[in-house]
Parts: sequence; structure tokens; C-alpha cells
Amino acid sequence: MDVCVSRQEGINMGFNVAIDGPAGAGKSTIAKLAAKKLNLIYVDTGAMYRAMALFMLREGVNPQDTEAVERKCREVDITIGYEPGENESREQVVYLNGENVNAYLRTEAVGNMASVVSAQPAVRRKLVELQQRLAEDKDCIMDGRDIGTCVLPGAQVKVYLTADSRVRAKRRFDELFRKGQTCDLDRVQADIEERDYRDMHREASPLTQAEDAVVLDTSEMTIEEAAAELMRLCRERRN
Ligand code: C5P
Repeated sequence: MDVCVSRQEGINMGFNVAIDGPAGAGKSTIAKLAAKKLNLIYVDTGAMYRAMALFMLREGVNPQDTEAVERKCREVDITIGYEPGENESREQVVYLNGENVNAYLRTEAVGNMASVVSAQPAVRRKLVELQQRLAEDKDCIMDGRDIGTCVLPGAQVKVYLTADSRVRAKRRFDELFRKGQTCDLDRVQADIEERDYRDMHREASPLTQAEDAVVLDTSEMTIEEAAAELMRLCRERRN
């Protein structure tokens, strides 16, 4: 079965914004800013793959073992909620079998596991279905790797956000440093490049730019500039 099951006809589509791109391009920061200003629900699909990765890590599942992953997928329930966050924003909360796992998702180990386990069709089918349900009838901005090509192919705005891999590595390095995690910049860059390679070359909905996506290279842009450009596109297409 195709992992990109299209949504049933007759379902009302809200205003949907799809943001795709490689790791560390600034997708979530920019999407969150735009969501708040434009009053859209922000859906971080990477966090769902990370929750799935955390589950597989905890259960000691080999992410390459397709049958074991498929079996484990039947035991896992991932849901999304929203809680009040900083500056009156709404923070997405991911529940793994009822447990709020947000605090465990942003480590390099979970990110690397997510990039391996997300290549498994059983994982993608489960999460794509959840993502499509979340977007039904709602105005939302969703970021990930396959949103414009697979999850929301009918999105009114599609942006492919990218940046030079050294710039992306430096952003990730600074983020980890701020959290008190020490790491090596070259190592972070190598991990990012490896993750991009896997995401772009897997069989099941690889990371590619949708034909109708606008490319935004943020290598020399500030977060505010990139968010302003995204909001301009949204306002233009919403009217
Ligand atoms: O965006 P983030 O780094 O949180 O995503 C973690 C991993 O989840 C990515 O490297 C990618 O392999 C996977 N992912 C995916 N499809 C999405 C979102 C994330 O395959 N829509």
C-alpha cells in the first residue's frame, strides 16, 4: 500500500501551508513564528517521527528490521496536543502511549534513530494518516520532509526551505550549546549530511522539492527575514 494515501474526497480542506527541507534549515522556528502571526495551527511532524524513534530505542528494536518495526507499530499510539507555551504561543506536545515525551525528543541519538526508522513504510503510513487527520478542516502550517509531496499535496502554500550544510550545522551546534550539550561542529555537520542523504535516498517518500514549491535558501537570511517571506506568500495566497 502506498504510504501517501490521499485524503478522502469531500473533506473540507482548510488553508494548508507545507514546509519541507533538510535538517537544521530553520523550518520549525520559521513555521512557529508564522503560525503565531497568522493564527495557524503549527504541526511539527519531525517530532512525531522522533517519538516513534524513542519508542523503538526504548523497546530495543532494530530499525532496519522491517518485520519487527511493523509489529511494534501496532503497539504504539502517538497523539498530539497543545499547551500554552512562551510568549502566548501554543506548544505542540507529543504523547507516546499517553506519556508526554517532549523532553526526550531533541537529542542527536533520537534524531538519528528517527531518520533511520522513518524510512520504514509501516511507520510512515501510521504517521502520515495522523498528520492528514490533523490537517482536515483546519488552517495549519506543517513542517517535515514530505508534506508538500505526500501529506498535503493540495496545500495552498508550499515552501522548500534550505541552507548550506555548514550553516545548518552551526545553527544546530549553537542550539545544543545553549542547552548545555557539548559537541564538535564537524561531527554535527557530518551527522546532518548523513541524515540528509538518508532522507533524500530512501524509497518511501524521500525528501524532494515539490514541483510547485517556492525555494527559500536561508543561508544568508535571518530567521525574521525568512519568516517575513513565508508570511508574505501566505497572505498572498490566502486572499
Ligand atoms: O525535522 P526533524 O529533525 O525533527 O526530523 C527528524 C527525522 O524525522 C528526519 O531526519 C526525517 O528522517 C524524519 N522525518 C520524516 N518525514 C517528516 C518529518 C521528519 O521522514 N515529515
